[in-house]
Amino acid sequence: MSKRDYYEVLGVERGADQKDIKKAYRRLAQKFHPDRNPDDDTAAAKFREVSEAYEVLTDSEKRAAYDQFGHAGVDGQGGGFGAGGFGGAGAGGFSDIFGDVFGDIFGGGGGGRRNPNAPARGSDLRYNLELDLESAVAGTTVDIRVPRHVECERCDGSGAEPGSSKETCPTCQGHGQVRMQQGFFAVQQTCPTCHGSGQHIKVPCHKCHGEGRVRETRTLSVKIPAGVDTGDRIRLNGEGEAGINGGPPGDLYVQVAIKPHHIFQREGRHLQCEVPINFVDAALGGELEVPTLDGRVKLKIPAETQTGKLFRLRGKGVKPVRGGPPGDLLCRVVVETPVNLKEDQKELLRQLQESLGEGNSHSPKKTNFFDGVKKFFEDMKP
Ligand SMILES: [Zn+2]
Ligand SMILES: [Zn+2]
Repeated sequence: MSKRDYYEVLGVERGADQKDIKKAYRRLAQKFHPDRNPDDDTAAAKFREVSEAYEVLTDSEKRAAYDQFGHAGVDGQGGGFGAGGFGGAGAGGFSDIFGDVFGDIFGGGGGGRRNPNAPARGSDLRYNLELDLESAVAGTTVDIRVPRHVECERCDGSGAEPGSSKETCPTCQGHGQVRMQQGFFAVQQTCPTCHGSGQHIKVPCHKCHGEGRVRETRTLSVKIPAGVDTGDRIRLNGEGEAGINGGPPGDLYVQVAIKPHHIFQREGRHLQCEVPINFVDAALGGELEVPTLDGRVKLKIPAETQTGKLFRLRGKGVKPVRGGPPGDLLCRVVVETPVNLKEDQKELLRQLQESLGEGNSHSPKKTNFFDGVKKFFEDMKP
């Protein structure tokens, strides 16, 4: 598809002045702007076409090249309207046009190039902290070592050696951008001397080498409130990376994870643990010693306790960090089959078995189960 003539695209005379071109562009760009024509490819293509025409015809050098050589004079240039050139803050300077023309239409700002000298907030940092259950439940204070950028003390973040000062960049005169002549036309590029800051440091600070920030590892004492759980975050205001150009520092987030415990499993404010008991205690009932986070407590279990039964110890769980009553400790008893039996002990068990006999009075579950099995196989018969 051959390109339409730029003047035709904007509907202006060949000799049109900047004011008329801008007016024509503004009208067409408003009509075809993607914000007003969402998901409309035709409008998007039109918008690109008028933007391209505008960019060339408002740049005196590009316009001269276009007038003389047609599209061949302005196509294929770096940083212009290549595959990804649209809307980027690259060397083409398109976003400047965008900001300029749309600033007062769409509420300003959108797509404008960020001023490299503007103060910027430092980045937030995240520190992953593993805690054991006891410390998390009781609360604690931990020292953590955080590597981060901080403002250079020697130059107060300016990057210039004390006694020297910054001067306006001699290459770009403070614009941060330079125009490079390439054939017929000029392209705008980030200034190679100051990398876009527009300022030149004559004598770079000896400590930070002109960066204004230095990397240091600081030890911070972090108070961990009682009751924190995996997934909780503790924010330390202003302990993140130093800001840029005098901007405020970021925050440090301490991300908590609780290590697995060898006795307790935590479920929010509740704790659970498994307590093995022997089958005599299970049958006759008795008193067990069970662990809690504040020490051992006695737990009475009734006679005929079955394996898997849960006993709830109220208030022996965790007091949540966000307030509310403490949770419970749930003890699950597991009946353990005796091992390493001597011959006389085995004999006692055989005697016990004989005494228990058949029937459902001592093992109702077992009896019910095998009655069910019997019925199951009877029903299957044709
Ligand atoms: Zn410069
Ligand atoms: Zn410094």
